[in-house]
Amino acid sequence: MRDEICYYCGEKSSTKEHIPPECFFPKGRKVELFTVPACEKHNNAKSKDDEYVKVLLTTSADLMLRKDLSYVIDKSERALERSPAFKATVLDDPEPALVIFPCGTSIPSTSHKIDISRLLNFFNSFARGLFYHHEEKVWKGSVEVALHFLLRPDAEEEDQLMNDELLEHYDRANSHGLNKNVFYYNFVTVFDDAPPSKILMYILCVCLFDKFKVSLILAPGPDLY
Ligand SMILES: [Zn+2]
Repeated sequence: MRDEICYYCGEKSSTKEHIPPECFFPKGRKVELFTVPACEKHNNAKSKDDEYVKVLLTTSADLMLRKDLSYVIDKSERALERSPAFKATVLDDPEPALVIFPCGTSIPSTSHKIDISRLLNFFNSFARGLFYHHEEKVWKGSVEVALHFLLRPDAEEEDQLMNDELLEHYDRANSHGLNKNVFYYNFVTVFDDAPPSKILMYILCVCLFDKFKVSLILAPGPDLY
């Protein structure tokens, strides 16, 4: 019975995990997200990372003008005000920065050192949840995470090319997701050209808040199939 096993570890499940986390969505609109069964450990382990990632993304200057997201931006700002310790974690090591809007105006802001390991933990679970939702089985391999929104303009050419190649898989119009302003994704299966065609990898093209793109790459090893 698949509903009885945890999407992450395959052990007996006792609770449910929302994908994306419930706190990303407006209240009363749960129809826009889905759940996967989870054990206690893999439900609880995530909640701090969920909150960190939510606050990190939604207090980013990129979303400053997004009225459609004010419900979550306001909440994140209140969370920072309530807890100085949390604020220090999210706004670690501030440096002056300039934010440039597409219209050409710019405003001074600050950039912060980002806790990459928490982002990676978050997207690792995210990938496993999405995979389980789609394929109805637990992903036993590793997950590679490409954080497109953190690619620096001065990145190596090879990284830029890889970045552009992955971004080509995004197709918002044909994506999954009932509230694309918050979350949508494309599930791409890449096959080997030569027969017998076997699955080379899955690419889960995830976009959060219609802004932050992250490719989650799941490549089956010889022992997985
Ligand atoms: Zn588990």
